[in-house]
Amino acid sequence: MRIKPKKSLGQNFLTDKNIQKKIIRACGLTNEDIVLEIGAGYGGFSAQLAPCLKKLYALEIDWRLYPDLEKNLSAYNNCKIIKSDILKFEITGFLQEEKIKQKIKVIGNIPYYISSPIIEHLINYRNNIGEVFMTVQKEFGRRVCAVPGSKEYGSFSCFAQYYARCRVLFEINKRCFNPVPKVDSSFLSLKFREKPAVNVGDETLFFKLIRAAFNQRRKTLRNSLEGLLDRQELERVLDSAGINRNVRPEDLSLEQLANLSNSLKSLQLSVH
Ligand code: SAH
Repeated sequence: MRIKPKKSLGQNFLTDKNIQKKIIRACGLTNEDIVLEIGAGYGGFSAQLAPCLKKLYALEIDWRLYPDLEKNLSAYNNCKIIKSDILKFEITGFLQEEKIKQKIKVIGNIPYYISSPIIEHLINYRNNIGEVFMTVQKEFGRRVCAVPGSKEYGSFSCFAQYYARCRVLFEINKRCFNPVPKVDSSFLSLKFREKPAVNVGDETLFFKLIRAAFNQRRKTLRNSLEGLLDRQELERVLDSAGINRNVRPEDLSLEQLANLSNSLKSLQLSVH
């Protein structure tokens, strides 16, 4: 690699060959798979991926890396480089142009500061994607997969788990990257569900409620939702959803949050 890595683009290249192999094994890839790799970089990892697949789309934003990426992939005739920003990349349209009907897999060692926008973006295209594999900051991986009652559980856990089964597959030592980042990483998998984890009548209301509930997580649910509803109404809703009035938001399962938002809806209460 001839260029100077850019911090602003989260350029920490995964250079450890053993970890590259471990990742490929963990993704359970076959020669039927079509993969979109996000942030392919100079193609060190992409070149290991390509021979395991039917097709590899290697997406990268930094033009300085294109010559090396092209060179590293030139030996394989099943690769295509996409010069784009993942957050602006319209996946459904692209797959239609490419005449691809099967669900793809997405794999990426991506900049950590855009982990959540990338997940949000990919969720919009969940009908086209079977599974997502990403290296993420260790703490972020824990938050995505957190269960109710744990200190990492929050609105992003609910959001991700509503759409996907989320798992941390293993941890990755920071020395596997070059340059070595400050933080340790995890390898995360998000397997999109055929339908969301719980039945929700009004998703906008559901997510609004979740954001409000976790906004002030040390408070009881009753107190943190005070801004949304007046107290009496709130007590009615909690009772009708079968939720203890003194419960803390971080103790609520997705199911309970769904009950709560569905009760709000059925009692036709409007939230502020
Ligand atoms: N996967 C490669 C590179 C990892 S570094 C490897 O492991 O070796 C992260 C890569 O993501 C960098 O190449 C960076 O330029 C790219 N990147 C950063 N922001 C991006 C964005 N919005 N869209 C696509 N690629 C991005």
